[in-house]
Amino acid sequence: MDSASRLIIDRTQRVLDERIRPAISALRVPLELASAELPGEPIAAADALGLEYLPYRVGTAWGAAWSTVWFRATGLVPDEWHGLRVEAVIDLGFDSTLPGFQCEGLAYDPHGTPIKAVNPRNQWIPISDEACCGDQIEFFVEAAANPDLLDHLPLLPTWQGDVLTASPDPLYAVRRADLVVFDVQCHELALDVEVLLELQAELDDGPRRAGILLALDRAMDAIDVHRVGETAASARDELRAVLASPASSSEHIFSAVGHAHIDSAWLWPVRETVRKVARTTSSMTRLLEENPEFVYGMSSAQQYEWLRDHRPEVYDRVVDAVRGGRFVPLGGMWVESDAVMPSGESIVRQFLYGQSFFRREFGVTCRGVWLPDSFGYSGALPQLIRKAGFEWFLSQKLSWNQVNTFPHHTFFWEGIDGSRIFSHFPPIDTYNARLSASELAGARRRFAQSARASGSIAAVGYGDGGGGTTREMIGRARRLADLEGSPRVMWEQPDDFFERARAELPDAPVWVGELVLEAHRGTLTSQHHTKQGNRRGERLIVEAELWATTAAVRGVLDYPYDELDALWKTLLLHQFHDILPGSSIAWVHREAVETYSRLIGAAEAISRRSLLALVGDGEAEFTANGSSLDRGGASAFSVTPATATDALRPVVHEHCDGVQIDNGVIRVVISPDGLITSAVDISTGREIIPKGRPAGLLQLHQDFPNTRDAWDLDEHYRHHVENLAQADSFAVESDNDGVHVTVERRFSRSWVRQRITVAPNTRTFRIEQTTDWHEHERLLKVAFPLSLHAEYSVAETQFGCVRRPTHTNTSWQTAQFEHSMHRFVHVAEPGFGVGLLGDSTYGYDVIRDADPEHGVTTTVRLSLLRSPRFPDPMADQGGHTHVYAFAIGTDLLGTTAAATELDVPVRSVRGGSAVTPIVTVDEPDVIVSAVKLASDRSGDLIVRVYEPIGRRASARITVPSEYGPGQAVSLLEEHTDAPVGASPGPDGTVRLAPFEVLTLRYPVHRRPGPEHRFGKGTRS
Ligand SMILES: [Zn+2]
Repeated sequence: MDSASRLIIDRTQRVLDERIRPAISALRVPLELASAELPGEPIAAADALGLEYLPYRVGTAWGAAWSTVWFRATGLVPDEWHGLRVEAVIDLGFDSTLPGFQCEGLAYDPHGTPIKAVNPRNQWIPISDEACCGDQIEFFVEAAANPDLLDHLPLLPTWQGDVLTASPDPLYAVRRADLVVFDVQCHELALDVEVLLELQAELDDGPRRAGILLALDRAMDAIDVHRVGETAASARDELRAVLASPASSSEHIFSAVGHAHIDSAWLWPVRETVRKVARTTSSMTRLLEENPEFVYGMSSAQQYEWLRDHRPEVYDRVVDAVRGGRFVPLGGMWVESDAVMPSGESIVRQFLYGQSFFRREFGVTCRGVWLPDSFGYSGALPQLIRKAGFEWFLSQKLSWNQVNTFPHHTFFWEGIDGSRIFSHFPPIDTYNARLSASELAGARRRFAQSARASGSIAAVGYGDGGGGTTREMIGRARRLADLEGSPRVMWEQPDDFFERARAELPDAPVWVGELVLEAHRGTLTSQHHTKQGNRRGERLIVEAELWATTAAVRGVLDYPYDELDALWKTLLLHQFHDILPGSSIAWVHREAVETYSRLIGAAEAISRRSLLALVGDGEAEFTANGSSLDRGGASAFSVTPATATDALRPVVHEHCDGVQIDNGVIRVVISPDGLITSAVDISTGREIIPKGRPAGLLQLHQDFPNTRDAWDLDEHYRHHVENLAQADSFAVESDNDGVHVTVERRFSRSWVRQRITVAPNTRTFRIEQTTDWHEHERLLKVAFPLSLHAEYSVAETQFGCVRRPTHTNTSWQTAQFEHSMHRFVHVAEPGFGVGLLGDSTYGYDVIRDADPEHGVTTTVRLSLLRSPRFPDPMADQGGHTHVYAFAIGTDLLGTTAAATELDVPVRSVRGGSAVTPIVTVDEPDVIVSAVKLASDRSGDLIVRVYEPIGRRASARITVPSEYGPGQAVSLLEEHTDAPVGASPGPDGTVRLAPFEVLTLRYPVHRRPGPEHRFGKGTRS
């Protein structure tokens, strides 16, 4: 850059920073403040207004971590401000280098009605557009002392993440509380100058850049730096021509939508998100009123429901703005959930509860799935997105990839079943855009579809307590609408963008399979209790629905709609993309574990109550089978008399090499150290354990990622490993359940017990592990080296499986050194395979080795426990249980069945009579994932089935005669134009394509009468 240009730029920057910006609110008088500190949790505004307020002096410290202080501000408009635009400016002690993640405030009028939030970069409160002299001013600010947990990069451990361990010292001091005159000319001048100064930095040397610099130089000449307010208009005159020069007709178009990515819990507890949403929406509805071109989008039905229930006055403003079409409900989900770990049913319910809320409250059906921040996206999603009726999908997170650059920005995403969803990955690489010239120019440069597509989406605004879009961003957008040298910006609903993009790219490139995030691999394992709670909760609510449906249809109990809705909503909230992944503060996970415990109890109670009502009075023992498999003499979904098992106990031989257990199907040798040194499929004689490389081996790794402890598992963790191969005790026992070998191991500061059980008549043996875990920054895995030349590992995902190469030929495969799984991972050679099952974990890795002695071997390792220290310094400390299992000589379908057996234990119930299944499916390769009554409370029966392994399947489905023929419906349980699949044939037979999910709705013939207890209740 030449020196003359440099001088102009430096001059302009200094005048902007030191004179123009301060001049925006230069006329000021201090407000009188008084404060009242709450002793504990937040209270309603109506109660807060009546607190005892004590005088507060600006500069005094306030707010221990997580506390709330109410400030009362009073003042008088000076005579000379008559007719001027007057605002208040409140700086609670913000660190404006961060837009959010710290203290925040919500201003209320003297009646307790929210006005607008104050945030680090949005500190103003409207007072009057035309003030009258002598106006008495009074308002309140509810100030939340949320600690800043990000200020010690690289995110060091802190005790501030839980109210139970946080420091009692005040964290903030109010810096400023003034009444000011808002100088519109100076505000506009600042934006003119900022936009041009940033734009010229992105331009090559040439006439446009030179013209901008010349205009800036002249504008600075026009300013009297001692009388900025009086000279701002003439400075603006000097910039008018360069700002009016239009963009080229081929410029990239940013479809901007106002946004605030508000994590439903993260570095704050759930209760604080309730307030964050209220603050942000109170500001955004005001911004919408004042700027007719502005469009704002907010996701997560849960966040709207919080607002409705906690800040109804703000909610009313949102409802009006939604009806006006400019406050746009986004995403059609209950929360922006994790998109890898939730079960298929959970993803369906995210859509069902999300869309139902938006329809009921606003008459709006979201057309796209908005998941900018979730940590990767399973290959099952395209089908589920389409079958829920959505037309598009958006992610931003792939810009976080550590290794590979995702090749497309606008593309079709094809899932495991072949469904394709039109998708967009905005090249701006942030969901907190501020519309800076560098953001826009960078996105234009990166945009992979620029040859044929006109633009991309920009989500504009500060999230997570930053307060959303600012009036400065709106001012920028106005200038950038049509400005030479810059991409264009227009506020627009994402639906309109997607319609245009789809027309421009009817044959957009196709990405097949999962959208893996090459980062945050540790989130598959961090906070094991939270993950276990999710897995159990998912299973138990689905089972509760089954037995409750059976009881309602058989006329013995009302269907507990409200209870089930409440359970689902709680579960769905906790699948939020920082709760289930284990990346929240201690407070969030402490509460989550308590919540899961209540949820599990409530779901169990529904099953128990339904089963007792179904079997009636009596003392006979019954077995209730809530799974879709026939087992233990009980057919799927039935309650049958318990039968004594006549299976032969496995044969045990103890010798110096350990103990050999033979159940007639498999023969296993366990060494005196509790390691599996041999596992043979008896029918084929096939040995699966490589010589000298025992299975069931616990491995302890150092796990100290470069940053983001709870999120990231860095590849270098593999450089450090300790094998826990020594046992401190070893015992063998036998009972009706089989032969059990129990070993105990002490290591470091921890202790673990593994109880290996070989049951009769099964090719699966299970290991129950209890761990007293007191490690920090370590990862515990259990390894199963296998004599298998496996080309792929196949892991269960939502309603199916995903296949991943075991080799690392390309950088894409190398980057996947940790994979996700649901209940199992399967590895095989043609004709022989092994399944590894887990009851509560989601991460695994595969290591492929080859040597002359063993040939190619495949080692599968389940990730059991981590112990990151940020943001929860005590993550995962204490007692844990895991159950995992090893199925020898099984194919994928067999492994799916084994996983179901592990996942859904049969129940014992005492009563009078057996219960026939409400639904039967005559083939085992069509799996029932849900049996429930329709969410519209019509009494119709909903049965959802899927094909689990990727081949074609058919089965005949039978339901009670009270129901008419089943019809294929959407995941939202309705008839639709969406591609929902084929209805059953006349005899009830369904035909499923590979991995197809089919939702069937069976209309009830008779309206609910005394014998049909479909219940009523009111929906919330
Ligand atoms: Zn997020």
